[in-house]
Amino acid sequence: MDRTIVIGAGFGGLALAIRLQSAGIPTLLLEGRDKPGGRAYVYQEQGFTFDAGPTVITDPSAIEELFALSGKRLEDYVELMPVTPFYRLCWEDGKVLDYDNDQARLEAQITRFNPRDVEGYRKFLRYSQAVFKEGYLKLGTVPFLSFRDMLKAGPQLARLQAWRSVYSMVASFIEEDHLRQAFSFHSLLVGGNPFATSSIYTLIHALEREWGVWFPRGGTGALVQGMVKLFEDLGGKIELNAKVGKLETAGDKIIAVQLEDGRRLPTPAVASNGDVVNTYQKLLADHPVGKARSTSLKRKRMSNSLFVLYFGLNHHHSQLAHHTVCFGPRYQALINEIFNSDKLADDFSLYLHAPCVTDPSLAPEGGGSYYVLAPVPHLGTADIDWNVEGPRLRDRIFAYLEERYMPGLREQLVTHRMFTPFDFRDELDAHLGSAFSVEPILTQSAWFRPHNRDDQIDNLYLVGAGTHPGAGVPGVIGSAKATAGLMLEDLTP
Ligand SMILES: Cc1cc2nc3c(=O)[nH]c(=O)nc-3n(C[C@H](O)[C@H](O)[C@H](O)COP(=O)(O)OP(=O)(O)OC[C@H]3O[C@@H](n4cnc5c(N)ncnc54)[C@H](O)[C@@H]3O)c2cc1C
Repeated sequence: MDRTIVIGAGFGGLALAIRLQSAGIPTLLLEGRDKPGGRAYVYQEQGFTFDAGPTVITDPSAIEELFALSGKRLEDYVELMPVTPFYRLCWEDGKVLDYDNDQARLEAQITRFNPRDVEGYRKFLRYSQAVFKEGYLKLGTVPFLSFRDMLKAGPQLARLQAWRSVYSMVASFIEEDHLRQAFSFHSLLVGGNPFATSSIYTLIHALEREWGVWFPRGGTGALVQGMVKLFEDLGGKIELNAKVGKLETAGDKIIAVQLEDGRRLPTPAVASNGDVVNTYQKLLADHPVGKARSTSLKRKRMSNSLFVLYFGLNHHHSQLAHHTVCFGPRYQALINEIFNSDKLADDFSLYLHAPCVTDPSLAPEGGGSYYVLAPVPHLGTADIDWNVEGPRLRDRIFAYLEERYMPGLREQLVTHRMFTPFDFRDELDAHLGSAFSVEPILTQSAWFRPHNRDDQIDNLYLVGAGTHPGAGVPGVIGSAKATAGLMLEDLTP
């Protein structure tokens, strides 16, 4: 029997493949790169382990559910460790906020910024919990295939003022500028501009407060490996270095997948975890649906890109928290430039990952593995030559970190590598080098996002950041549930 094919072993593709295989549908997972994980790829260099992408693991229940489908237990495959504080937020004026789940500790810190904001924060938390219930628990795993589905959600979205931006909603509750930044930056974690993205994305705050922030022992790559093992234990088949070049159609049906190595694999159905624009533009180039969808998708706004710098030191900076957000001198103006300007800004805000704080095994003894990222414009917004700008930005960021956060950094440097918007485009086949696919603004969310099943080619499905609900590990695992629901309905006799 021909296997159902999932193209791409990102978190979305893996979660979908596990769901299909758990339901008894023989599934083949084809990954173009030499390792699974997609944006959660792993680099290993001179004894250092670098998780390439996601490091803030939230909603462990969604991951546990994937194991429970076949009566297995997540903890038998990988250990998730709690991270405290969730994040350390630092500003250039020396102010610091350690954000975690302890209400009393959080309120004591908020009081130091502005006593009046304690009550405002409580109201904001209640608001984000209401959004979380509607937007995540009720709608996060439901496919929006028709406009009727959107209309049904309309009253709740209106009640929650979903047309307002994340920042405007936070600012309606909280007065103090640092605190406004602290409670609005979260949408950037999924590629959303807090000044443009729907206030629905404030749900990330409630989600973190509900279930905490976690880190897998051995790094995020260990979670990827655990999911691959589960899939294989269930009888699923995964092939690496297996890049799909074309989807072969007969009328409006996909009948086979053609690999770049020349093989042809007949299949009853295909789900693509690859970039949505390129799924239609490249894989379906010969079908009118491919042309039509890619033309309309290219009119959508894509999320920003990232500049990521992985580095290993012969020193462990024990003064750091596991996750640090280093706010730069500007907030709104910088974000506006990242999303809309054709130039690279002179300043930056950074996210610094120091996983050895939680798991020292990720570096040789006494050392530390780190990564730092800066949100930057995608290649359609700013035509930057990253072969020139990348090394310059690397040097600026190293100097900045050394001065403010990691004394002696450049002396301690053992190894480093960069991942620029060019790499998002070339390594991950991401349209315009976007790090998070289609930008999560209201007019590109739910029904307005590429659908989990194509409207015309009804054995073609999408899973991952470009479809509903969107980017982020919980988002793409949710998309797998929405897509699997459709596939099981369609494929089960
Ligand atoms: C640096 C960075 C940090 C992040 N941090 C966090 C975080 O802390 N927490 C969080 O929740 N989210 C985070 N995110 C977002 C999150 O990582 C992504 O939204 C999510 O992992 C995307 O998963 P996906 O299922 O869409 O697939 P992807 O990870 O995009 O994987 C798609 C896979 O498909 C493969 N593929 C594509 N085309 C083909 C083809 N033709 N043939 C075969 N294979 C193909 C690719 O090689 C790739 O492996 C981060 C993202 C980045 C980039």
